[in-house]
Amino acid sequence: MNVMANDLKTLIPDTQRFLDQEKKHFIGGKWIAGSSGDSFSVIDPSNAEVLTQIPAGTAEDIDNAIQAANTALNDPMWRDMPPANRERMMHRFADLIEGHAEELGQLEALDVGMPSFVGQHVEVGNVLDTLRYMAGWPTKLNGKTMNIGEPMPDKRYFAYTQREPVGVVGAIVPWNVPLMIAMWKIAPALATGCTIVIKPSEVTPLATLRLAELALDAGVPPGVVNVINGFGAEAGQALVEHPLVSKISFTGSAVTGKEINRTATDTLKNVTLELGGKSPVILLDDANMEKAVQGISLGIFGNTGQVCVAGSRLYIQAGIFDDAVERLAKEARSLKVGPGLHPETNIGPLVSEAHRDKVMGFINAGLKAGGEAVTGGSAIDGPGFYVEPTVLANPPQSSDVVQEEIFGPVITAIPFDDLDEAAALANDTTYGLSSYIWSRDIQNVHQLVPKIRAGQVYVNSSPFPHPAMPMGGYKQSGIGRDLGEEVINHYTEHKSVVIGIN
Ligand code: NAD
Repeated sequence: MNVMANDLKTLIPDTQRFLDQEKKHFIGGKWIAGSSGDSFSVIDPSNAEVLTQIPAGTAEDIDNAIQAANTALNDPMWRDMPPANRERMMHRFADLIEGHAEELGQLEALDVGMPSFVGQHVEVGNVLDTLRYMAGWPTKLNGKTMNIGEPMPDKRYFAYTQREPVGVVGAIVPWNVPLMIAMWKIAPALATGCTIVIKPSEVTPLATLRLAELALDAGVPPGVVNVINGFGAEAGQALVEHPLVSKISFTGSAVTGKEINRTATDTLKNVTLELGGKSPVILLDDANMEKAVQGISLGIFGNTGQVCVAGSRLYIQAGIFDDAVERLAKEARSLKVGPGLHPETNIGPLVSEAHRDKVMGFINAGLKAGGEAVTGGSAIDGPGFYVEPTVLANPPQSSDVVQEEIFGPVITAIPFDDLDEAAALANDTTYGLSSYIWSRDIQNVHQLVPKIRAGQVYVNSSPFPHPAMPMGGYKQSGIGRDLGEEVINHYTEHKSVVIGIN
């Protein structure tokens, strides 16, 4: 398989301007140089070239950002902003992002490697939907009047609850869809009156920095949205440890999530963890095969498999196994692999050389364990970090390629006989993030849905996060939820007020 390399789209002037601009942290509405002078390179995964240098944030930089966020939290301009004004401000922010969608899509293509049209339309599309959905919440954050009766003789009370912002939020974001996940944390912070310090992944910080600048342009007060670049061990750790941070919203791997949870215990922060997955896809013999194969392909090869909800374990009813595997392999072979800036690219590179090597390690171990590469199975030569879309048939259920999150364009296929066996195989994982059922039999679907231990079940659909639907996992896929009304609960405290009136 070859990589398409010629005829790349040219960068629009806005993208070029931002790339050329010296990169700093974004604190209190200003670009601020790093305190240490240390920096790191951001690499274009399509050709291994350095895109730009980014300052590596320190505990001092984190403290500066948290102080700015804490000042903004208590500033009447933000604290007392009428809910309808906050709503209007969020819509202005969304409109401005929409006007810069092509630029943001190009930054994601350069930084993550995803096709730029996916960045522009799918990722930025979700960013806009999330911001506009969350803009409906500021006017609806109500408490309740409670009837507590007369708990003491001859004493009457008026009792009510009110909802308040949880405080300064520390957001830690991964590299796979950086802009979208940053917005899953920024939008509820804006809706609830919190302030936020974001630490993007050291691998893909570009679009998030640009987003912070757009927030200021849209009228979000200085200090409400801050971005500190840097590595997890230093900047991330300092954010989790800081006593002025009330909440940590983390998206990333289970290993890091567990470490963050341990650290956050010292200051008893409110913690939300959105972690990895190894999501099962159950394909029944009554499914619409054409739609199923397209949906399964999109669900594992979209964003080169670097998706937390990727359907990476395919369980196929035995009678249709060979046919389904061959159809999926054919679909995989038809995908065009190339740089994110190539207009025909379906599948971009993996995000880094180290990640490409990790994915290849899983594929090779899967082959050694007895899996058959029906298609793919190799890295693609070139300066970029490409791996062929891969379908591995019949690896053992207990092997690493079936049990571990690979985060690459690799799907395993294993047959099953009946619904109980399908559910048992689907649940045979430490994760519980997403799951997929392809079937036209409503009874089979309703029998399977309650048996599956996962935060999301998509029936006859590939994954798409909708801002109204809570997003998160069972088991070791996390704690709490992003999106939906649930995230608003995680970003607010409920205060009970009891007033004696005689
Ligand atoms: P990662 O855990 O390596 O890093 C995530 C972030 O945590 C980065 O910003 C990193 O710098 C920071 N970090 C690392 N160590 C830290 C520490 N000790 N303290 C504080 N911060 C620290 O994950 P990744 O490789 O960037 O992302 C891929 C992972 O993210 C996959 O496991 C994927 O499934 C998961 N993910 C989950 C969801 C979801 O919604 N559940 C969405 C996207 C990605």
